[in-house]
Amino acid sequence: MKIFISDAFDSSLPGKLARYGEVTDDKSQLANAEIVLIRSKTKCTKEFIDSAPKLKYVIRGGVGLDNVDREYAKQKGIKVANTAEASSIAVAELAFAMMLAMPNQLVPGDTSMKKGEWLKKELKRSELLGKTLGLLGVGNIGTEVARRAKAFGMTVIAYDPFLKTHEIAKLVGKLDDFFPKCDYISLHMPLTDDTKGMINKNAISKMKNGVYIVNTGRGKCVIEEDVAEALKSGKIKGYATDVWYSDPPEKSPLLGAPNVLATPHIGASTGENLLRIGEVIDRLIGEYVKK
Ligand code: NAD
Repeated sequence: MKIFISDAFDSSLPGKLARYGEVTDDKSQLANAEIVLIRSKTKCTKEFIDSAPKLKYVIRGGVGLDNVDREYAKQKGIKVANTAEASSIAVAELAFAMMLAMPNQLVPGDTSMKKGEWLKKELKRSELLGKTLGLLGVGNIGTEVARRAKAFGMTVIAYDPFLKTHEIAKLVGKLDDFFPKCDYISLHMPLTDDTKGMINKNAISKMKNGVYIVNTGRGKCVIEEDVAEALKSGKIKGYATDVWYSDPPEKSPLLGAPNVLATPHIGASTGENLLRIGEVIDRLIGEYVKK
């Protein structure tokens, strides 16, 4: 059996998987691969699938499957899996770090100091204690963020139409009731037809003035132009994002907007997470081989 590693994983992975067969990252071997391992970089499109006639199993190291044409894979009888829970802590910690960095002025404080400025009076901070965090989607990652927010004394609410109850967050049934309550909004839903462009002009108009938004979900869940506009007017006080319309972003209006904290899609990129992803992949291939 040939396993083709298409994206960057922990360097221990090929050795770990060697007992199942030949493990390669040589692109010319895609045509002979039975299992393909991807992260977010590889777009597992119809063309990609067609170039791998022996393919039986695609494993996405990570969560979002929006880079896989699942419908076409299904038609071709190709199994698709992700490593669902493995990345929850890594992404939740980044989301929480962003939520702390913005009201604590960490980036403006650091950049101004290094320019020789002393903005002690100008840089006003605010606290998370007593504020309301609204989670859009409260699955694996949203739940880890909710745990951390509780520890900081925040009230946690969530909009998640697929849940009836949640152990930490109070569920709000309608977005119109959700947006006006939030001091912070953090995005943790998948990119679907329903969530694409969910943070748009209309949604923003229902939010509190001075809301902070954190996006470690997917770039296309927001309309970047509308967010940039609201940052300029001050309606949104800060927008922290790890995710973009494309990796890397092309001409994003957010890169020129004020109070944007930007990272290059590193939510899952902790060493611990890459090891955890490797362990899950090892288990998934072990189960596949046994069948
Ligand atoms: P999950 O499946 O455990 O949770 C997603 C939650 O979103 C579910 O509870 C689901 O019911 C809810 N949901 C679905 N449609 C919704 C809607 N219309 N409105 C509100 N909620 C909705 O997934 P997860 O592990 O928590 O990951 C969430 C997302 O985070 C992924 O889909 C992926 O896009 C993103 N992600 C980003 C990174 C990164 O590097 N920044 C890494 C991993 C995952």
